[in-house]
Amino acid sequence: MDAGVDVVSEALAGLYERCRTLDAGEVADYIPQLALADPDCFGLALVSMDGHRYRAGDADTAFTLQSVTKPFVLALALAELGADEVWRRVGCEPSGEAFNAISLDEVTGRPANPMINAGAIAVTALVPATGPGERFARILDCLGRFAGRRLDVDEAVHRSEAETGDRNRALAYLMRGTGALRGDPAEAVDTYFRQCAVRATVEDLAVMAATLGNGGVNPVTGEAVVPEPVAVQVLAVMATCGMYDGAGEWMLRVGLPAKSGVSGGLVAVAPARFGVAVHSPRLDRVGNPVRGVAALREVSQRFGLHLMHNAAPGAATVVSEGGGSPEDGDGDDGDCKGGDGGGDRRTGVLAAQGALDFAAAERLLSALGESVGAAPGPVVLNLERVTAVDAAAEAMLTRALTLLADRGHRVVLVGEVLGSGPWEQGREF
Ligand code: GLU
Repeated sequence: MDAGVDVVSEALAGLYERCRTLDAGEVADYIPQLALADPDCFGLALVSMDGHRYRAGDADTAFTLQSVTKPFVLALALAELGADEVWRRVGCEPSGEAFNAISLDEVTGRPANPMINAGAIAVTALVPATGPGERFARILDCLGRFAGRRLDVDEAVHRSEAETGDRNRALAYLMRGTGALRGDPAEAVDTYFRQCAVRATVEDLAVMAATLGNGGVNPVTGEAVVPEPVAVQVLAVMATCGMYDGAGEWMLRVGLPAKSGVSGGLVAVAPARFGVAVHSPRLDRVGNPVRGVAALREVSQRFGLHLMHNAAPGAATVVSEGGGSPEDGDGDDGDCKGGDGGGDRRTGVLAAQGALDFAAAERLLSALGESVGAAPGPVVLNLERVTAVDAAAEAMLTRALTLLADRGHRVVLVGEVLGSGPWEQGREF
């Protein structure tokens, strides 16, 4: 992109400059190797749904992903086993407790959610494989497909956590006791430690986030990594449970699905817009990176990205409408020369444009409702300029046109965006 018009890189550079001076927070040291991280390392990256990449600061520094791997391994388990099997074994409720809490349901024995350690260990153990070697190979491969390149493991960090991670081991044994964990707890925890030690840059992480925001399709490689319903479920869990016990405050002020990790990584997803990632090892009280949180708050506010933000409506759906007798037609869109010459009175002519989703279909059908007369007559709907129809809009249109046909209206549809139904496919306008 011409540097002169690259305002996204400019915005990231501005964020970097404003946030780099924040020096509150501590580098995690309960895994000794993580304590060696440079506290002032700070990188940001953003990847659009078209695969355009933007970056600022230390975007080439590789760091271990730690808990940021959790949503992506959850995606793998959901894709492999299906939602019912996964949600039978792990809950989806925010725990309100620390990431390493012994948070198991008193009745079911299930961990509260897959974003805390107990839930993540259980989910990792669910990934189908003949043994731990194959299981980790599948996890590493999947993380690489999310990132668009093969990733590797920081062996020193893995060793360091394996030597000190007794609390996670204890959690795994407890879960075997409650029936929440399948297989050998020691193996499950070691696979989880290796997963946490997978290394990537902040730019890799932004591609991973963008893949979730793009319905599971990596916007850089074009590969469908997980099915769209899986990406939706993972984003939902990130939105409610992704930011440790700061998840409520995060949703209030930033309003995007996100996940952070103890090495200072943070991913956030603006669904259908972009993925963003930050790396900064200084962590706040609840374990989120201080600079990352500040940067994302500003991004969300400046660009109006909060999920609950009432975005401006898209382009008009209904582009023309008309009525009157067929003889009035002059060939413009929305005018109908149709009819069979048998004396039909035209009662409704509408043309729509753009992508039709629930809201656009509702707009179109309410305009159609107003233009259709009570007495049966021809109804013409021109969808030639419609670029896409999602499943909800297709069902709504099909149902509405069927109702009109049942009431005796002669429905003529122009543009082949709907399958067959009780309508004629009309061409002449
Ligand atoms: N490997 C770390 C642990 O289990 C990950 C924790 C995190 O990033 O929240 O303690």
